[in-house]
Amino acid sequence: MTSKIISREKISNFVDSMINDFIVIATTNKNNVPTLMEISSFEEVLFDTDLPMIPLKKLFHPAQQDLFKFSRTKGVTDIYMLKTIKDIETKVVVFGVRPCDITGNNVLDEIFKENFRDEYYLTLRDRTLIVGINCLKPCYENCFCKSMESNDPKSGYDLMFTEIAKDQYLVVPNTDGGKRIIELYSELFEDAKEEHYDKYIRKLELKDNNFKKDILVEGLASELEDKFESKAWRKYTKDCLFCGSCTFVCPTCYCYNVKDKIAIDLENGIRLREWDSCYYPEFARVAGGHDFRHEKERRFRYRYLHKYIDIPRRYNMEGCVGCGRCITYCPAEIDVREVLDDVRGES
Ligand code: SF4
Ligand code: SF4
Repeated sequence: MTSKIISREKISNFVDSMINDFIVIATTNKNNVPTLMEISSFEEVLFDTDLPMIPLKKLFHPAQQDLFKFSRTKGVTDIYMLKTIKDIETKVVVFGVRPCDITGNNVLDEIFKENFRDEYYLTLRDRTLIVGINCLKPCYENCFCKSMESNDPKSGYDLMFTEIAKDQYLVVPNTDGGKRIIELYSELFEDAKEEHYDKYIRKLELKDNNFKKDILVEGLASELEDKFESKAWRKYTKDCLFCGSCTFVCPTCYCYNVKDKIAIDLENGIRLREWDSCYYPEFARVAGGHDFRHEKERRFRYRYLHKYIDIPRRYNMEGCVGCGRCITYCPAEIDVREVLDDVRGES
């Protein structure tokens, strides 16, 4: 299928039509915070906005999720709690996802498939179609996506919208799912012509110039290894509140804790998982009580080592997509770019 053209005006018809056939999720302005949630009309959508506070991961890896029910006498009684999710059979469309968040989700897709297939994550992921909106200039005050090469994903989305002229978008399908969405609402789209592709290519060239590289990623992993004992870690540890906000807003942070919730009859219970943070004191405590990262400085450093050394080496992908959320939402105003610069500059 060739790419299509749609006007800004018809995008609202497109989204409203999808609401009749899918569960549609988009960024809204709930309580004045950009929030990804189900919408019932295009009017609720914050279009052309910056990033939602909590990224796409919350749809596939919820902050708290029941895993199974158990009973003291019968063992596991209901393995698959996903079937309790309303409309699990209905496809979900997430509309308006930014390229860096698509790239961040590609990291999670890989992690939740590796070694052990996490069916809880993958069931929710597999029922979801992603409609992206290209950023032609930085969409977020603290973003450094170009440094992390996350603003031009090749996979992880079904359709991508790019504004090629005022109120005119080129829509590129990237999967069969994306093609099917276009076919469903074909009356809203026109075939793209050569002139549209010319404009598209010019826009992509402009895009390339509009983004600057803030940090140098080449060699970062081995430099951080060399600077394991850098004094700079201590300096930032003093400022950090260890609140965990940076991990919860991060599209590639996925750590969770598993807990049992026991009913008052002491007979039945539910095993659940909930987001955890490597900045929390008990995160690295193991059976027997030993804590591998009891000291704050170790905890502070660990997040950087995991993102910029472990994930790239293990998955051959960057562990940070440069979205900048951790900078925006850090109450101690810690800037990951400054931390990396300082650590690299320190002996
Ligand atoms: S958000 Fe800031 S203060 Fe809170 S844990 Fe992260 S770096 Fe520390
Ligand atoms: S570490 Fe910060 S900049 Fe990097 S992906 Fe996570 S939230 Fe975004």
